[in-house]
Amino acid sequence: MANRRVFSGARPTGKQHIGNYIGAIQNYVKLQEEFDECIYCVVDLHALASLQEAGDLHANSYEMVLDWLAAGLDPKKSIIFPQSRVSEVSELHVVLSMVTPLGHLFRVPTFKEKVRQQPDNVNYGLLGYPVLMTADIILYKADTVPVGEDQLPHLEFAREIVRRFNNTFGETFPEPHARLTTFARVMGIDGVQKMGKSLNNHIELSAAPQEVEKRVRSMMTDPARVYRTDPGHPEVCNVYSLHKFYSPERLEEIAADCRGAKIGCVDCKKMLATKLNASLDPFRQRRAEFAGDPNLVWDILTDGANRARAIAVETMAEVREKVGLA
Ligand code: SF4
Repeated sequence: MANRRVFSGARPTGKQHIGNYIGAIQNYVKLQEEFDECIYCVVDLHALASLQEAGDLHANSYEMVLDWLAAGLDPKKSIIFPQSRVSEVSELHVVLSMVTPLGHLFRVPTFKEKVRQQPDNVNYGLLGYPVLMTADIILYKADTVPVGEDQLPHLEFAREIVRRFNNTFGETFPEPHARLTTFARVMGIDGVQKMGKSLNNHIELSAAPQEVEKRVRSMMTDPARVYRTDPGHPEVCNVYSLHKFYSPERLEEIAADCRGAKIGCVDCKKMLATKLNASLDPFRQRRAEFAGDPNLVWDILTDGANRARAIAVETMAEVREKVGLA
């Protein structure tokens, strides 16, 4: 089979949490074994569209990449780099914007959601996000993009832009395919919203063991289980949903004990915290080792940017020729 290349981007959000790990990072690590090349991009330009969320881009990029490395991303196998360090992506973004109908952009659900979230700063970046995202992917001619089900419409949008470009200027880009992540999205410890730093309902991968215990203790459980003697409903319990990932070997037993009121939520949470901490221990150790070399992350990002740029330059030479700019 021809060269198979994965692309995925993540906003620099600083220290990563278990929702990031279960939903994306563990998958990033696995894909390294399966594909010829994986490109993992810190999408700092995207972050600028929500300045209040962006925070310190430098520090947030550093912390995020440190977590990626500790989780098993290998810069020898993968290209890890900051989006803004390859300026060709901005040029391709402009070119693609010329084949993107404005009406389609206004209909993207995440745009409407962002307008609701930041009504005082409805900027072009929010509207043009799917165009820049498409440029991110196809600049490297990636054929596979790992996504959750909620991101499928964005990928379909990218595929449509690719078709429009290819139809207008001749076959240039492969249509990227989705690689669905198998794990459902992780809810925050409040049990109400998706786990996220801005909601402070998260558990950081690098959190100290005591902090992990504290956060797990505060997790929302089955709201119908008021007393220890009440039978529980694991299928609606957020603690149980994390057991699915961290205690797969005891899942049936936990579910049965919960339904039969043989186990209390306090003990069930203690069990989860123990499993979580056991799984995070090697991560914490690796992170501390990597953090011991202050230049490591920056050297990896510089090397990644050089490797990414080498691909981008070739693509843009072809694009300029196809559209008549060369
Ligand atoms: Fe959830 Fe465990 Fe309590 Fe059942 S026993 S409701 S699975 S925390």
